[in-house]
Amino acid sequence: MPADIRFNRELDFEYGVLETVAPSIRRVIARNPSPFTFHGTGTYVVGHGRVAVIDPGPALGAHIDALVHGLRGETITHVLVTHTHLDHSPGCALLRGHVSAPTYGFGPHGSGRNPAAGDETVVVEEGADFEFAPDVEVRDGDVIECDGFSFECVYTPGHTSNHMCYRLREDRALFCGDHVMGWSTTIVSPPDGHMGTYIASLERLLGGADRTYWPTHGALIRKPKPYVESLIEHRRLRAWQVEACLRDGIDTIPEMVKRLYRDLPVRMHPAAARSVLSTMTLLVEQGVAIRRDSGSAPASIDAGYALAAQRSGQR
Ligand SMILES: [Zn+2]
Repeated sequence: MPADIRFNRELDFEYGVLETVAPSIRRVIARNPSPFTFHGTGTYVVGHGRVAVIDPGPALGAHIDALVHGLRGETITHVLVTHTHLDHSPGCALLRGHVSAPTYGFGPHGSGRNPAAGDETVVVEEGADFEFAPDVEVRDGDVIECDGFSFECVYTPGHTSNHMCYRLREDRALFCGDHVMGWSTTIVSPPDGHMGTYIASLERLLGGADRTYWPTHGALIRKPKPYVESLIEHRRLRAWQVEACLRDGIDTIPEMVKRLYRDLPVRMHPAAARSVLSTMTLLVEQGVAIRRDSGSAPASIDAGYALAAQRSGQR
């Protein structure tokens, strides 16, 4: 890792058990561990008696059963969804078999995307859930009133174009989905993921007064501001490193992955290539880099690149 990010890979939990993690917050972790989900999806429950659920998780019957079992005698009044990846939203459909609470979210997959970004053609990371559409579409600043507590919606596109964080106002706690994770950096994979937007969404969080972040994957983050600053710094360093590759004549994304992700297992290189692509997209948009074959085309994995200044210098 180029920047000094203080990752926390500790997590005390038991699969299938709804556990209290703060006075008003409970969590049950789904058994869907992977290099992208860490131990699995953490589904949060807020409140007691009449509760809100955040990210029901993957389409795993055992996980939804554990959630419903843990909440017997209580009523789910709201279901909030941070974004439409397969490890976050498909559980909503399964939960429907048990409860009728409305779902909240920005919109279906891709709904926040700039049309110029193109279609979803590559499935990496957890993959997208194209089935889910929220009952209630929420926007930045909207407040969701629950029984004795409330959430402010904080629109944070970048990981996906429809990513929404939910701020539990009474606790100054932010349910940050995959926007910020404590155990790892977040995958930003074009076209639905967008690095420029992602960095802007990180910078937005610096203005918040949250005391804690509760990511979907991994433990809570207790000092969120310096942590978010280190994530921003990490992305800036990556951009600088990609620029340095170009300066050194390393002009394709697969070659850059070999240099920048030397310690990463080869099976993770396709995901790393998506990440470098998102950084390259940013450099192309900023006019720093250019595609060798077509200066105006958006960045793509298999293109060759040059520094914009270098290219004009060669003419
Ligand atoms: Zn995700």
